[in-house]
Amino acid sequence: MRQTQKIMLAFSEATTSELNEILEHRFFKEKKSPKSKSKMSLSKQQSTATMSTIKQDNFGTKNIYEIIKQMRLERNAPVDIVGPQKCFDKDKDIETQRFQILTSLMLSPQTKDEITSKCANRLLDYTINDIANMDESELVKLIYEVNFNVTKAKRIKELAQLVIYKGMPKTFEETIKIKGVGEKIALLYIQVAFQRVEGIPIDVNMIRICNRIPIFKEKSPTKLRKFLESEFEHKEWGDINETLVGFGQQICLPKPKCEQCKLKDICEYYKLKNTSD
Ligand code: SF4
Repeated sequence: MRQTQKIMLAFSEATTSELNEILEHRFFKEKKSPKSKSKMSLSKQQSTATMSTIKQDNFGTKNIYEIIKQMRLERNAPVDIVGPQKCFDKDKDIETQRFQILTSLMLSPQTKDEITSKCANRLLDYTINDIANMDESELVKLIYEVNFNVTKAKRIKELAQLVIYKGMPKTFEETIKIKGVGEKIALLYIQVAFQRVEGIPIDVNMIRICNRIPIFKEKSPTKLRKFLESEFEHKEWGDINETLVGFGQQICLPKPKCEQCKLKDICEYYKLKNTSD
């Protein structure tokens, strides 16, 4: 078995308390006294024995990601339930569904998923034509709870007018040219509307998490995207945004719930916070 497979196997078999013990052993306790080892349960001894191989291995981004995935097993964060990429009507024609996906994503910046979903759901009652011909002030009323509602209403109306003449964009390059659409929205749109993963969409939650642990100390979404894309195989890209965003919504919040986190023994932010307290 390859070294990295052994590591992942050890993590997948470890319970929460064992996992914390494994991490502690890896990072802070190079040697345990024979007395303390003899008190360990057999399963703990097995996990620790397997994990002793990690001492020679690089505890990298993938291992951290696997631990975050363990913390996200329930998939019950706002992004899992009311994420903007989930807000479209599957009974409508495909062009309308794509329009709904993109408008929902365009409503999402600087706004909580629950609020975005509420506003995006209201728009599902209107056709592309309705929105193209609607007064901007009327559109603002429908989405008034999202931040920057006036600008977003203007961009969504422009999108509807564009779609009537040109149809929905079909590539990342076409999508990112639309006003109100950035790299993250364009990648998520292509992923959901066309089932094509062309990159890892980077969200503000991901930047916060990656800087804290740290996985990657940079605030630039494009640099973080390129870094993560170089770390993971393409087949894993499609799930990284949702996994990390949900972790950022439930545990690694702006005011983090570190006591619930399995990464606190390796997290630089946690160590600094506890040193300065
Ligand atoms: S220990 Fe705290 S700051 Fe560090 S990753 Fe976990 S929740 Fe975030």
